[in-house]
Amino acid sequence: MFIGNHLSSSKGFEHMGKEALALNANTFAFFTRNPRGGAAKEIEPEDAKKLRDLLEKEKFGVLVAHAPYTMNVCAAKEDIRSFSVGMLKDDLERMEYLPGNYYNFHPGAHVGQGADVAIPLIAEAINEALKPKHSTTVLLETMAGKGSEVGRNFEELRAILDLVKLPEKVGVCFDTCHVWDGGYDVVNDLDGVLAEFDRVIGLDKLKAVHFNDSMNECGSHKDRHEKIGEGKIGLEAMKRIAKYPLLQGIPFILETPNDDEGYAREIALIRSWS
Ligand code: FE
Ligand code: FE
Ligand code: ZN
Repeated sequence: MFIGNHLSSSKGFEHMGKEALALNANTFAFFTRNPRGGAAKEIEPEDAKKLRDLLEKEKFGVLVAHAPYTMNVCAAKEDIRSFSVGMLKDDLERMEYLPGNYYNFHPGAHVGQGADVAIPLIAEAINEALKPKHSTTVLLETMAGKGSEVGRNFEELRAILDLVKLPEKVGVCFDTCHVWDGGYDVVNDLDGVLAEFDRVIGLDKLKAVHFNDSMNECGSHKDRHEKIGEGKIGLEAMKRIAKYPLLQGIPFILETPNDDEGYAREIALIRSWS
């Protein structure tokens, strides 16, 4: 299985590969730029090459880059929207230093405009940034439905996908905490939730999992991640998700509140399940 966590890119790309190996991970996530701001560090081609070589040698799975939280391509304010689309465009260019990986982003917050207005804006942003020359697959993350988040249910993600011009280059990242908080009962009816995902979106679109337990109840729309087995989803249900036959071979990324030691422990735990 491909399992890893979020790593900081502040010490460069190759450093992340080494850190992942130290945690016994074989995939990882990283922010393409300052997650709370948007400033991007210059990529050193040499450093990117070293990471590419390491990933190949150590047989890593696909990486799952994450866009900054400040990105909101469906913002009501035009300046925030164009700033966000600019980051999306730039990130997809930069991702070509690590070709063939995933780039995950939060569809956005409609801030009172309504999802009906936001959904076409999100698709438009993807259509403007994502070109046939790009080797990256863009992922829309399933959201908890906190505030005015778009992507609060499978239907909203489907509606975005329907408006995208290069659908073969766009998929979905299934965040277990968000889906649960969004009202999908992965504890008592995992089969049903994934059947629903398949019916509305198509399981072929499920490219990555953000593997998190949740501090809150199903349908709470809170989005507070918990350590694996210590939240309301619980160990048994988390184990069933990790072992689910239809989810094998895709990257599982931990976004749990842990230090390095905690991540190494969670990675070892999850590996012990298969
Ligand atoms: Fe996220
Ligand atoms: Fe997530
Ligand atoms: Zn979250």
